[in-house]
Amino acid sequence: MQAILLAINYKWETAMQLTPQLLPSLIQAIADAVENNAEEVTALDQAIGDGDHVINLQRGIQALMAQSAELSQLDWVAAWQKIGMTLMTTVGGASGSLYGTLFVAMSKAAREHPLNLSTFAEIYAQGVEAVKRRGKADVGEKTMLDVLVPVADSLRQSSAQAVELPVALAKLTDVAFAGMEATRDMLATKGRASFLDERSRGHIDAGAKTAQLMICAMAAVLIERLTSPA
Ligand code: ADP
Ligand code: MG
Repeated sequence: MQAILLAINYKWETAMQLTPQLLPSLIQAIADAVENNAEEVTALDQAIGDGDHVINLQRGIQALMAQSAELSQLDWVAAWQKIGMTLMTTVGGASGSLYGTLFVAMSKAAREHPLNLSTFAEIYAQGVEAVKRRGKADVGEKTMLDVLVPVADSLRQSSAQAVELPVALAKLTDVAFAGMEATRDMLATKGRASFLDERSRGHIDAGAKTAQLMICAMAAVLIERLTSPA
C-alpha cells in the first residue's frame, strides 16, 4: 500500500514539473516527426491540396526552434501566446492561421483558469473551439479538426474519469491515429480539397496527418518524462 502511495506521489510530483522548460524537447520532437514523414505528407497534400503543407509547417517549426530557449523561460500563458503569434506570422496557408488561433486561444483560456492538470483538458478544448470558429468547420469535414476534436474529447473524458496522465496520453495517441485514418473516406467540404468534391475521397487529409504526427510526438515526450525516473 505504501509503495502504491509513493508511486502516486512520485507521479504527481513529476507531473508538476511539466513546465515550458519542456518546450525545446517538444518542439524538437515535432520537427523530427514532420521531417521523418515529409515525403508521405507532401504526397497526400499533392493528391488533394497544393502540396505546400509540410513546407508551411516546417517554416513555423524552424521559427519556434529559434525561439525555444526564450520560450522555455516563460510561463504557459506567455509561451502559448508567443507560439501562436509565431505560427500565425510564419506558417502561412490555412494551417498557419488555424494553429496560430489554437495557441492564442489556449493562452487566453489559461489566463482565465489557473493552469493545472485538470484544467488543461478544458483549455485545450477551448483552443479547438476557436479553431472551429476560425475555419468555420467541424469534425467530419476532412481536416485537422478530425484529429484535434477527438483528442479534446478524449482528454476531457480522461480528466473526468481521473485517469492517470501517462494513460490519458497513450489513449489520446490512439484517438489521434484513428481520427487521422478516418479522414481517408471522408468527403472534403472545407479547404482546397473541397474543390475536388467526390475525388477528395480515398486520400488521408495532410493536415489531419500532421496534427496526428505532432500530437503523438508530444505525447511520447511527455510519457517518457512522466514514467522514467528523474
Ligand atoms: P493551404 O490549404 O492554404 O495551402 P496548408 O496546406 O498549410 O494550407 O494546410 C492545409 C490543411 O489545413 C488541410 O489539410 C486541412 O487539414 C486544414 N484546413 C484547411 N481548411 C480548413 C478549415 N476551414 N478548417 C480546419 N482545417 C482546415
Ligand atoms: Mg496547401
